[in-house]
Amino acid sequence: MKELINQVAKYDFDLVIIGAGPAGMTAAIYAQRANLKIIIIEKYGVGGKMLKTSEIENYPGYTYILGPELSQKMQEQLENLKVEFVYDEVIAIKDGVNSCSKTIVLASGINYLAKGVIIATGTLERKIGVPGEAEFYGKGVSYCAVCDGALYKNKVITVVGGGYAACEEALYVTRFTNEVNLIHWREGFRADEKIVNKIKNHQHINLLTNFIVSKVLGDIEAKKVVQLEIQNVNTKTTKIINTDALFPYIGSNPVSAFVKDLDICDDNGYIITDDKCQTKIPGIFAAGDVIAKNLRQIATAVNDGAIAAQYIINFIDNLNE
Ligand code: NAP
Repeated sequence: MKELINQVAKYDFDLVIIGAGPAGMTAAIYAQRANLKIIIIEKYGVGGKMLKTSEIENYPGYTYILGPELSQKMQEQLENLKVEFVYDEVIAIKDGVNSCSKTIVLASGINYLAKGVIIATGTLERKIGVPGEAEFYGKGVSYCAVCDGALYKNKVITVVGGGYAACEEALYVTRFTNEVNLIHWREGFRADEKIVNKIKNHQHINLLTNFIVSKVLGDIEAKKVVQLEIQNVNTKTTKIINTDALFPYIGSNPVSAFVKDLDICDDNGYIITDDKCQTKIPGIFAAGDVIAKNLRQIATAVNDGAIAAQYIINFIDNLNE
C-alpha cells in the first residue's frame, strides 16, 4: 500500500483540518505532535465561536476567562508548534488521485491533495428573518455582543433567545448599560437554572417572554436601529419597544453545505460520525459543533478534536504500511 500511495500521489499534506475553532485547534495540536504534515484552513478568524463568546466559566483550568482570550491562548500553542494556517474557504472535498487521497478544493482556486481531512467548521448563527434585520446589520443589529456590546454604553440593548448564548450575552451586556431587554418566545429556557435565575433576578434585565421580534425599525439616514416591533405569541398583539441594539442569539446552523454531496450529514446538516469521529467515508473525520451530538461546548469540541486526530493518525499510519 505504501508504494502505491507514494507512486501515484504527491501529497501536499498528510492531513487538512478545516476550521480553527477549539475542535480544529486541538486536532492540530495532536496531529502536529505526531509529526504529520498538516494545515488548518480557516474562513473567518482563528478561535471560531470563542471569538464571539464573552465570559467562559465552564472550561477546566479557568474559573473565568473571556472567549477571545482563551482562543488566543490556543492559537499561541499552535504557533509554538509551528502549525501552518491559511485563510480561505473550502468549497468541496473530492476524491483524490487514488482511493487513499482527498482533494480539498478552496474558493481561491487552490487544491490540496491530502491523505485525510478533519472537518471542524462549527456552526453559524441563525437569523430571525424579519424585516429590517438584514438592512440594519452592522447598524445596531449584531450577532456578537462581545465584539459590539461596548458600542452601546448607557443605551438600550435587546437580546433575543432562550439558550445559554442569549442568557450569557444578556448578562454580559449589563456591564455597558442598565437597560437590557431579553426577548424569548416561550417561558422555558434551554439553559441551566443558575443562569436563568440570574436573568430573572437581574435588576437591569427586562425579561419579555412569549414575545417574538416581528420587525426591526430604524432610522435609515442615521443608519441605526431605533425600535423593535414585538408580537405576543399568544394574543398576536404587537407593541413597539425602544432599543439601540439588537443581538439575536437564537441558535445556529452547521457549516456543512460544502459536503452536502457526500451524503454524510443528517437531515439538519450535522455531520454523522462514529465514536472515533469518523464519517462513513474513509479518510474524512469530523469534530466539534458541526457533528451530530447532544452537547456543544468548548470542552466537548476539544474532546472531539483529540479523538478525531488520534484516529486519523492511526488511519494515515495504516495507509503508509
Ligand atoms: P440554542 O441552545 O439552540 O438556543 C436557541 C434559543 O433560541 C432557544 O431557546 C430557541 O427556542 C430560541 N429560538 C430558536 N429560533 C428562534 C426564533 N426564530 N426566534 C426566537 N427564538 C428562537 O442555541 P445557543 O444558545 O446559541 O447555544 C448553541 C449550543 O451551544 C447549545 O448546545 C448550547 O448548550 C451551547 N452553548 C453552551 C454554552 C455554555 O455552556 N456556557 C454557552 C453558549 C452556547 P426553543 O427553546 O423554543 O427552541
